[in-house]
Amino acid sequence: MTTRPTNWAGNVTYRAGRVHFPRTVDQLQELVAASTSVRPLGTGHSFNRIADTTGALISVADVPQTCVIDPTRSTVTVSAGMRYGELAAHLHEAGYALRSLGSLPHISVAGAIATGTHGSGDTVGSLATAVAALQMVTADGELTYVSRETDGEEFCGTVVGLGALGIVTRVTLHVVPTYEMRQWVYDDLPRTALVEHVDAIFASAYSVSLFTDWRSEGVDHVWLKHRMHGSGTVEPPTDWLGATLADGPRHPIVGMPVENCTEQLGVPGPWHERLPHFRREFMPSSGQELQSEYFLPREHVLDALEAIERIRHRVGPLVQVSEIRTVARDDLWLSPSHGHHTVAIHFTWVPDTTAVTPVLGALEEQLAPFRPRPHWGKLFSTSPQTLACGYARYADFTALMARHDPTGKFRNQLLDRWFPPG
Ligand SMILES: Cc1cc2nc3c(=O)[nH]c(=O)nc-3n(C[C@H](O)[C@H](O)[C@H](O)COP(=O)(O)OP(=O)(O)OC[C@H]3O[C@@H](n4cnc5c(N)ncnc54)[C@H](O)[C@@H]3O)c2cc1C
Repeated sequence: MTTRPTNWAGNVTYRAGRVHFPRTVDQLQELVAASTSVRPLGTGHSFNRIADTTGALISVADVPQTCVIDPTRSTVTVSAGMRYGELAAHLHEAGYALRSLGSLPHISVAGAIATGTHGSGDTVGSLATAVAALQMVTADGELTYVSRETDGEEFCGTVVGLGALGIVTRVTLHVVPTYEMRQWVYDDLPRTALVEHVDAIFASAYSVSLFTDWRSEGVDHVWLKHRMHGSGTVEPPTDWLGATLADGPRHPIVGMPVENCTEQLGVPGPWHERLPHFRREFMPSSGQELQSEYFLPREHVLDALEAIERIRHRVGPLVQVSEIRTVARDDLWLSPSHGHHTVAIHFTWVPDTTAVTPVLGALEEQLAPFRPRPHWGKLFSTSPQTLACGYARYADFTALMARHDPTGKFRNQLLDRWFPPG
């Protein structure tokens, strides 16, 4: 008996009996043209059924890998199935870098971009904001190319595409010169300090993450990732706003092995070994979990945290850790940071869907006044009406789907729910 493929977390068994791995773009084109129902799959790190299908589930991981840097344009063109960890190592070796990475380097470039995956930083956009162009196979099996330079609005609609417009085969990303970073963790930031200094805290490093488990007041850990400029880096104070500099490495989830995390304690290292929280060779996070995340306009951060406080008795027992980050505004239609700077409030839950689902409803009710946008690759129960109100270009995206894919080849149950066909 063959076992059906599952997502990374194991909470989704894909209804397709197997994953197709075309070895060339030609094979991919033939497969898409010959199928009536298709979904692209990345590395399966999403927590919902976004990649699911009863038809052909297709990964581009076996299409020969390319990684071509164009120094004149400051771009790199990579195969869509490449993982960020691999891409980052290539880039660093060649003297280049990306401005942002998610918490883990294990995910594919196309999969991360398709869901609006982000890292952290007041002035840093999501990973999708690095995209300059995409090559993809559309529903009729044709190969098309979309770039910001030539396709303007259509490009903005296509990048965070949820796999609904085609199967991306290559991605061109903007790069910057490589850089070094140092990472420090502070323990126990008092709640009052957060309330009084929230803007200064998020502006205090290139990338800032606040971690709490909602079982006590205050912030359990603050992770600060600083870019190094020249040789003179200021040493951090032992006490900062009432928090204490950590005396050893930390894992975001208390009790998990710190060896899985990127180096802390201010040890200098390349950007791709400091921006993610987790090392490429090890398991990220806890491995036994579900995740959700909501993006709100940045100015509502304190009110939103207070709203969650009201149901702390329901959240606390089910959460392994919660992470709060900021993401810069962008113009990509389905990006959760479209149109405004956001704060992203993330929850790593215990792996119990039955217990977590009602709490998601309660959370969404608490956050409703702030018009939260859910992470497309995580668990949420937001209604299609709320999604439609939350995204100014929702109707345009629905029209783009219909134009690219008139027979609904790339649709699945979840896309039908979020974007009901006309
Ligand atoms: C431990 C852990 C930590 C995480 N940390 C973060 C974080 O820091 N920040 C954050 O924002 N998210 C985070 N996530 C969520 C994760 O980044 C997203 O779910 C992301 O989409 C996963 O990429 P993937 O390659 O696994 O895509 P998949 O889950 O396989 O697919 C996601 C979507 O991309 C589409 N897709 C995949 N490949 C293609 C392609 N070639 N062409 C077109 N569409 C495609 C799929 O159809 C699907 O709709 C985390 C997840 C885990 C498990």
